[in-house]
Amino acid sequence: MNLKAITSLRSSIRRRWIWIFNPRYIIEQLRKREGSCKDCGAICCKRTRPCPFLKNCKCTIYNKRIPFQCWVFPIDKKDIELAGVSDVCQFKFKM
Ligand code: SF4
Ligand code: SF4
Repeated sequence: MNLKAITSLRSSIRRRWIWIFNPRYIIEQLRKREGSCKDCGAICCKRTRPCPFLKNCKCTIYNKRIPFQCWVFPIDKKDIELAGVSDVCQFKFKM
């Protein structure tokens, strides 16, 4: 596992941790989130390890049983940075 993958894994663990200990933060952040997920080639899904549900740069389970940590990504700017997708992710957060 390379450094980018390890950092990206940290973003996933941090997201789960916050959901367990401070779910209100995630709910507030999702209200501040702007933008949509498209046309970046699902870089965040490839970063840690190739996800088995990713086919042709699309999540095949997005509308069925997408894991929680994927569904809420990104929760804040730090999440985007840790996932290593600051240059491509199209989500922004209102201050
Ligand atoms: S489950 Fe879907 S959204 Fe989550 S990493 Fe895999 S392809 Fe991406
Ligand atoms: S990096 Fe951002 S825009 Fe790209 S697939 Fe992930 S959430 Fe969507």
